[in-house]
Amino acid sequence: MIDTALIKESGLRRIADKVINSEPVNGDDALAMLSTNDIPGLGMIANHIREKVNGNLTYYGMNINLNYTNICELRCPLCAFSCDDGDPKGYVYSIDDVEKIVREADSIGIDEVHIVGGLNPSLKLDYFTSMIRKIKEINSRIFVVAFTAVEYDYFAKLNGLTLQGVFRELIDAGLGAIPGGGAEIFADDKRNVIAPKKINAGRWLEVMETAHSMGLTTNATMLYNHIETHEDIVDHMSRIRILQDKTGGFKTFVPLQFHDDNTEFKPGRAASTGFDDIRIYSIARIFLHNIPHIKGLWMYLGEKMACILQDFGVDDIGGTYIRERVVHSAGAKTSDYGTEDFLKRMITSAGREPVRAAADYRRIENQ
Ligand code: SF4
Repeated sequence: MIDTALIKESGLRRIADKVINSEPVNGDDALAMLSTNDIPGLGMIANHIREKVNGNLTYYGMNINLNYTNICELRCPLCAFSCDDGDPKGYVYSIDDVEKIVREADSIGIDEVHIVGGLNPSLKLDYFTSMIRKIKEINSRIFVVAFTAVEYDYFAKLNGLTLQGVFRELIDAGLGAIPGGGAEIFADDKRNVIAPKKINAGRWLEVMETAHSMGLTTNATMLYNHIETHEDIVDHMSRIRILQDKTGGFKTFVPLQFHDDNTEFKPGRAASTGFDDIRIYSIARIFLHNIPHIKGLWMYLGEKMACILQDFGVDDIGGTYIRERVVHSAGAKTSDYGTEDFLKRMITSAGREPVRAAADYRRIENQ
């Protein structure tokens, strides 16, 4: 419920009127919101959409992160996780390693395996189909969310296949959905600095569109607080909103704060403040009215912000992410394992109702 009388800034009141009338906000509105200090007013607007779409529910997952290799050809300056082939830190999980890790996690009780890794030329497509088949063999109920658009593009090139061919084989093996990584920030001039060898925005969107056309749902991420401008943020979200109008295949938008510990690239920007984070998540909820879920990964944000952001658009706080390596390589200070009680407490203390689910958002009754 929006009470426009409580909104201090006239620009925000105009945005509130659009939202009340279910009109999409435009890029200028998003720019205005990125600079507002009327945080309670912004929160009221974001929460209106959050509750309209997801009621009082907040989703969490019982999952494991499987980072199958850290050896990567691209060595993006923003990445603290990757290394070159031959580096003593380099590793590749064998299918036996995967089996051991997933069996152990399954005995604790997980619903989902989330798989991403480096671009390693020694790993052909049959490694990935075997990996997914092995996971499904351990427990067919486990939902597999796997590989970024950057990895799909690489798999297609490395194996001489079309994107459709890659998706077909992985769906056949048991792939359930696709995470949203690799989007970073779409603006070419910033992308060329933080991840110059990564596929460009057009190709990232093409991979996602192809996945959607084959019935796969996906997430979309946005990396913020590095060298991007407000205009870049609006451009990024606009391109995602346009594709979503066409395909409807994005389930979740996931803003990600940049962490620069151990990265080659140092933007020289101070860590985002609480208000910066609130603005980004609120604007994501308001601008991306056509995407059902906004995820605020507690592991990136810290427990306190993940709790607060549930009043600013977030309806999904992420999962247990046992064995998460990527964000912790870059200095995230949070624990890399949250128990189910710990996640539920972050939700109930925000006055929300916890719902356990995998990436398809189907409610899972506690096992
Ligand atoms: S961000 Fe991804 S593609 Fe870039 S170096 Fe790291 S693992 Fe490789």
